[in-house]
Amino acid sequence: MRFADKYKVYYPQRFKGIYTSRGDNDLVSVRIRQKEGRDPSKWTSEQLNSLCSISDKYGNGKIHFTTRGDVELYGIHESDLSHVIDLLDKAELDPRDSCGASVRNVMPCPSYLCPLAKIDAVSLSKRISRRFRHNPQYEYPLLPKRIKITVSACEKGCATPGIMDVGIVATKYGKFDVYVGGGVGDHAFQSVKLFEDVEESDLERISIAIADLLKIEKEKRGFKWVLNKYGVQKTKEILETMMNNITTEVFREETERINAERILRFPTRGGWLTTAEVREIAKISAENFGFVVLFNKQVLDVPVKVQVNTTLNYQMISPEDYGDLKGDVESCIGNDFCPPAIVSTNTVAEGVSKVLKEEGSVVNVKISGCSHSCGRHQIGEIGLGASMRDGKPRFKIFVGGDNFRLGKEVGEVDADMYGEVIRRLSKVEDMVKNQQIDEIVSLLKDVPSFTKSD
Ligand code: SF4
Ligand code: SF4
Repeated sequence: MRFADKYKVYYPQRFKGIYTSRGDNDLVSVRIRQKEGRDPSKWTSEQLNSLCSISDKYGNGKIHFTTRGDVELYGIHESDLSHVIDLLDKAELDPRDSCGASVRNVMPCPSYLCPLAKIDAVSLSKRISRRFRHNPQYEYPLLPKRIKITVSACEKGCATPGIMDVGIVATKYGKFDVYVGGGVGDHAFQSVKLFEDVEESDLERISIAIADLLKIEKEKRGFKWVLNKYGVQKTKEILETMMNNITTEVFREETERINAERILRFPTRGGWLTTAEVREIAKISAENFGFVVLFNKQVLDVPVKVQVNTTLNYQMISPEDYGDLKGDVESCIGNDFCPPAIVSTNTVAEGVSKVLKEEGSVVNVKISGCSHSCGRHQIGEIGLGASMRDGKPRFKIFVGGDNFRLGKEVGEVDADMYGEVIRRLSKVEDMVKNQQIDEIVSLLKDVPSFTKSD
């Protein structure tokens, strides 16, 4: 099948979680969420085993883990798609509202594991999701663009409020700040703190008002442009007026706390693991608390209570380390399957991990295969975002991004020079964090093909 024909069929239906794969073929991919009412970040060992069976039989024998608590299966023939969806349904998994113009996973941080948590982020996430999930009023075509909402259970903001349409952050005394209008892509916007010290009962209405305003504005570029149009004060006034007309029902559900002394973090390679590796992780989780946490770093976290023997590579942390995790290398899917991809992000992610290991560095690196920025490179401590210049693949280099702040663009290099850039920047972590652009430019200026940003 020609890519153009496949694209016409699937593009408008992306909110159902089905994508076309790159090239003229009959392959599609499925992005999968937990079913309605479940914690979006908790994947049971049984579910992981089901995904492995599906991928082995109908996919490419691998599983891709995303930066929003989703899992993707690739290499599925169109003719097998409906059967695959039935199998996912039996495993309490569901692709709808994972992609396209929909309200995506309301992503909570793992507050049930983290001792710094001030609130139950999972319960709040379920409360907010119930208005949006499987609701055609908040899906394409009525919703013009996707909405991303996250909940961070303390001021560390691990759920990256800086780039969310709605980034909820629990503050002292059980109140909340709400960051609005962030987003990456061709035009990256850092969110602004639009509401301060609000009550939990207001958060659902704020989220609904933002989705409703996006619909009224028919803004296909996302809520960040609505905020840009009206400015901070006016947007806030409009939303507050709209909130007065929104009613919500009471929601009470408490998430069980998990008292794990240790958490094993299994890294992926640019999001990928083989089904053999996932089965091994599923086995370890079955012997412990029965689930893994897939939050927003393409890493599988397994809380453990018994001694674990495995040949897989992992990092051991304590729950109190959650607020300051180091050494994660994340990337989007890249040109293995994604149509607009410019580079093989997975190869780059593996190369970056190798350089960091050689240098003994634990800096966080994020990589995107094109300007759509699915790898969120703008918030990496070091970010690499692929682009084309004069027919050549290049990487834009960003430094000093974090949960609340966009990184600054330093310059760009030919894509195959990324290793040298990472090697040099990994040695000057403080300079990177403090966004000392002049010093960083001096450090990189003799890397072949480097040009500094204007
Ligand atoms: S440190 Fe991070 S994971 Fe822990 S409660 Fe705070 S935001 Fe959540
Ligand atoms: S950033 Fe570009 S290459 Fe990467 S997954 Fe998104 S669209 Fe594809």
